[in-house]
Amino acid sequence: MPDFTAETAVSKMKIAVLSGKGGTGKTLVSVNLAAVAGHSTYIDCDVEEPNGHLFFKPDIAREELITVKIPQVDEKQCVGCRSCVRFCNYNALAYVNKKLIIFDDVCHSCGGCVLVCPKSALSERDKPIGKIKIGVSGDVNVYTGVMNTGEATGIPIINRLLEEGSAEEHRLTFIDCPPGSACIVMESIKDADYCVLVAEPTLFGAHNLNMVYELVKLFDKPTGVVLNKCLNEDNPVEQFCLDKSLEILGRIPFDHELASLNSNAEIVVNKKEKYRELFIGLLETIVGRVENGAASHKPNMVHGKVAADDQEGHRMELEQVCDEKVYGKVAADDQKGHNAEQEKKTCGENVFVEPGEFHRELEGACSERDHTSSEREGSAK
Ligand code: SF4
Ligand code: SF4
Repeated sequence: MPDFTAETAVSKMKIAVLSGKGGTGKTLVSVNLAAVAGHSTYIDCDVEEPNGHLFFKPDIAREELITVKIPQVDEKQCVGCRSCVRFCNYNALAYVNKKLIIFDDVCHSCGGCVLVCPKSALSERDKPIGKIKIGVSGDVNVYTGVMNTGEATGIPIINRLLEEGSAEEHRLTFIDCPPGSACIVMESIKDADYCVLVAEPTLFGAHNLNMVYELVKLFDKPTGVVLNKCLNEDNPVEQFCLDKSLEILGRIPFDHELASLNSNAEIVVNKKEKYRELFIGLLETIVGRVENGAASHKPNMVHGKVAADDQEGHRMELEQVCDEKVYGKVAADDQKGHNAEQEKKTCGENVFVEPGEFHRELEGACSERDHTSSEREGSAK
């Protein structure tokens, strides 16, 4: 396994771990990856329900209160014009019985009402919304965000967490994101170099995976999937990954012992060699993607051949990516079989399929690789 104490490109990487819903195994994956990496940073951005600290049990070195700005009114200055009420998109203000009422819990601290008040009757005060805790557990630095119950948003806490965690430049960093795909998740992944999506092997799991997949696609992040709770049965998530050209980085089996250890807040890689080997393998795979240029999207470079199509023209697949196969649907024909569409691939290249002909052009080539012209052009079967 690579030495993460050395100052390399990989040791600076930030790897975000996401899932479409809670309980999928996101914390299991991020905690155990950080544990096997050793010299690493674990940042728990799941501020509504942080539980990574239950596994690491860190010695807390520092805590910091996180506050936001909330308006307060000087009633002597207020003339009841309601400009502030009309401005507030979050309905955090109301003017009732000649009095301005401020609903702190729904205020998003945009500061706009203070600016629009013609009488300067509004000013700002600090309101605590939670805290961050910084601690150490063995070789792992542990950052935890905790949001107070009922607050409108945990984004200020996440921003502060990521700011503090990023100060440590040469530590492989794992970001345990909040579940789902809301703005709080977007904030957590914005600086990530690679995204690991964790999914359960069910139709519901595929649906949830699609939510986070759409999100990382929006952010144009290099991405792979870890399948959790795998059984020897058909897995709808595998087909989803195939359809979306998503690489499966690893599979964690459905295992009562692992589940029992994990539910008792144990770091499984510290308990059983077989789990250690499992997560070392997963970490090596992820690091391999990052080292091979996943962070700069090189693995999605198109330099393979069109693997399959026929005169029916309903589907084409690409065989691509540095020494691996990733199947990407490049054309989805309609019932007539000739309405091929263009799909933008990552790293700014396009794959074109012309209606009814299966002629294509692959634009651009990996600058770091010496592809032959035939590789670049590909060949349709
Ligand atoms: S700060 Fe923004 S969100 Fe809060 S009350 Fe004023 S306008 Fe509304
Ligand atoms: S904008 Fe200023 S003066 Fe007008 S209602 Fe709001 S606080 Fe009062």
